[in-house]
Amino acid sequence: MFGNTRLFRCGYCGHHMRLGAESCGACYTTSPFWNRAGFWLVCAATATALVALPLLLL
Ligand SMILES: [Zn+2]
Repeated sequence: MFGNTRLFRCGYCGHHMRLGAESCGACYTTSPFWNRAGFWLVCAATATALVALPLLLL
């Protein structure tokens, strides 16, 4: 899913990190939380819940 897309840069060394990587490939600094795959899964689940909830209440 995430493939080799490199959108984020390491805040420490500026290395382009792989999306979803938990640490920088160059300096091994832990990546920011928004570069984790889990964070986006939670975002997607939350967004889905927010969209589905009003439909369930109708
Ligand atoms: Zn780095």
